Amino acid sequence: MTTRIAFIGLGHMGGPMAANLVKAGYEVSGFDLAPSSLDQARTSGIKIAESAIAAVEAADVVITMLPAGRHVLELYSGTAESRGLLSAASPDTLFIDCSTIAVADSLSAHSLAASAGQRCLEAPVSGGVAGATAGTLTFMVGGLDSDFTQAGPLLETMGKRQVYCGGPGTGQAAKICNNMVLGITMIAVSEAFVLGERLGVGNDALFDVMANASGQCWALTSNCPVPGPVPASPANHDFRPGFASTLMAKDMNLAAEAQAYAGLQDVGLGGRAAAMYREFSDGEGATQDFSAIINAIRSKADE
Ligand code: NAD
Repeated sequence: MTTRIAFIGLGHMGGPMAANLVKAGYEVSGFDLAPSSLDQARTSGIKIAESAIAAVEAADVVITMLPAGRHVLELYSGTAESRGLLSAASPDTLFIDCSTIAVADSLSAHSLAASAGQRCLEAPVSGGVAGATAGTLTFMVGGLDSDFTQAGPLLETMGKRQVYCGGPGTGQAAKICNNMVLGITMIAVSEAFVLGERLGVGNDALFDVMANASGQCWALTSNCPVPGPVPASPANHDFRPGFASTLMAKDMNLAAEAQAYAGLQDVGLGGRAAAMYREFSDGEGATQDFSAIINAIRSKADE
């Protein structure tokens, strides 16, 4: 029997992820609050449900891809006016939350699911919209090993790599640690280009050196913040996202929250980078890719 999937949150990431499940032959019933997401999903063969509740009622697996923790928790447990998905689904349904949310919110989602007699995995992703579309995402999974095994074929349909990180919360922890590195390295690469420009090294030459030396990293070789060396990078396309600066600010903030949750002091770069992305995404960078932070760094360096 085909696994029946409910997919809630059909935005930039969820839309193409659900479309890949349909392409692989799964029956997908989807819901989103945004009419534009629903229109797009319909063209991909996703059956549009009347509500999130209606989508999950006959599902074997419920996948969510939502902006933040409060959306996940509100949908899972419901509000004064509406039932939650956990109580609407048949008992023992597998809930997989692919959103990037706080570790503490993810732990709450797991315990809400367990109290409602449901199974739960968190499976945040990296790879962006391009990876969601191509089905090449990396999933970082936390929850029970046995649930991970059951989810395997679905995750393989949407991604190229699934890493089981351990019990509840560990998938989100891995995702946040990775994005902390990404946020910090983008600032480092940007500062290096601004310094190189001032010292008279051309961007292409500096790229050639760093891409083949110890400065090599994804922020440089895949999402290079200066136009030229990496044709597909947002710097060549008016810094259209890509990965929006608002999302990077959100993830850096999640990392800061996770440090506090874990009882760790902020020892330097994480907190500093979080503040830089917050300021940038609240202002000139609001609609830009996170790599556009190089412009803010260039302006500050010239003050
Ligand atoms: P998005 O805003 O495009 O999509 C989220 C969708 O959720 C929207 O369409 C919104 O209408 C819908 N939604 C919100 N509340 C809802 C509700 N109550 N019921 C039904 N639908 C609801 O965001 P996105 O870029 O697809 O990102 C989704 C998640 O993936 C975020 O947590 C983000 O941090 C993470 N992520 C994004 C990227 C990326 O490159 N965009 C990469 C990795 C991870």
